[in-house]
Amino acid sequence: MRSPMLTAAEEKEARDLFQLGYSISAISRHLGRDRATIRAYLRGERTTGAPRARPSALDPFLDYCRRQLTGSPHLPAAVLYADVVTRGYSGSYSSFTRTIRTHRLRPDCPSCGRGDGHAGSPAGPATREVPVQAPRRYAERVARPGNSEANIR
Ligand SMILES: [Zn+2]
Repeated sequence: MRSPMLTAAEEKEARDLFQLGYSISAISRHLGRDRATIRAYLRGERTTGAPRARPSALDPFLDYCRRQLTGSPHLPAAVLYADVVTRGYSGSYSSFTRTIRTHRLRPDCPSCGRGDGHAGSPAGPATREVPVQAPRRYAERVARPGNSEANIR
């Protein structure tokens, strides 16, 4: 019994023949494969190639999101999310932010070099995140016995 898998060449031939108007029955006779197998490949349910990227609910909004984030790299994700939801996006917030990351839609900010939506706001793009942790750690190390300013990098 033949394996129900098609080779890449068979899959291509099946697609070509189908494009030319051959029926699934004719293609299955030609390749000596059963019709269910041919049909599954033609429908894209199976393929010899790499699996297709899983479609995301955000796909129709990718260009829009890219434009918005290019215009303001610090646009908070929650704001953009609310925006695309009003435009019909139906995915969750977590899949939204994941897609933003995997598609690298948020560019680095030209003025501060960051693109992670840090403390910048639409009203004050010059606002910087105040580094709260570093000075405190520094102070703790200075305060530790045996430490001096000199051996702290
Ligand atoms: Zn910035």
